[in-house]
Amino acid sequence: MQIARFAHGDNPRYGIVDGDDLVVLKSDPLFDSYETTGERVPLDGARLLSPVIPRSKVVALGRNYADHVKELGNDLPTAPVVFLKPNTSVIGPDDPIVLPEWSQEVHYEAELAVVVGRLCKDVPAERVNDVIFGYTVANDVTARDIQRAEDQWTRAKGFDTSCPLGPWIETDVDVSDLSVRSYVDGEQRQDGRTSQMIMSVHEIVAYASSIFTLLPGDVILTGTPAGIGQIDAGQRVEVEVEGIGRFGNPVVRR
Ligand code: MG
Repeated sequence: MQIARFAHGDNPRYGIVDGDDLVVLKSDPLFDSYETTGERVPLDGARLLSPVIPRSKVVALGRNYADHVKELGNDLPTAPVVFLKPNTSVIGPDDPIVLPEWSQEVHYEAELAVVVGRLCKDVPAERVNDVIFGYTVANDVTARDIQRAEDQWTRAKGFDTSCPLGPWIETDVDVSDLSVRSYVDGEQRQDGRTSQMIMSVHEIVAYASSIFTLLPGDVILTGTPAGIGQIDAGQRVEVEVEGIGRFGNPVVRR
């Protein structure tokens, strides 16, 4: 099942993708039920929003694909590199990525993202499925020049608009071997597979829950494959995970 969040009158609404339509839900199924309003909205005309706005955090894993670690000239991590992106970094499909004035080298990073469904802590890897609501697609937008220059990655990866999420949450998908791709102006740039991850999705969620209490709606980014590169104002960057979906954002500089 694919659950989209979309603009509808004054308030965001939730809908289940059913063919060419969204079946409108009465409330947010992450916190409530799948009860429908009886309305159907054409998917074509709906303005999709970020499928979730995390109430507390986006947890992200760095350097989780060996080929990507090599392309940046880094050594394979002996322990996972974990960082946070604030919920104010989250934007949805077609929202502009605003390049910060203090960076001259902003990169895209296509990633599989986990949406947490339950409050949890210290979840064993074998029980991770119990706490996952579904999966979505993320772009871990990164100011690479700032990431190189500063020890902490907070400024490089936490600025406004640096976490596009979309196009919806897929609740039924086997994520063990899916293609992860990005495109700039329609030209393919990344083409990895989730099977190339150093830490598996189950290990990542278990590890994150050993550090943080995870809340419903928290999002966990699982790392990016090789092929990262720069985006400039005027371009459109898209990210895609097989079996979940594809969406894009225009890049602007203000
Ligand atoms: Mg990343």
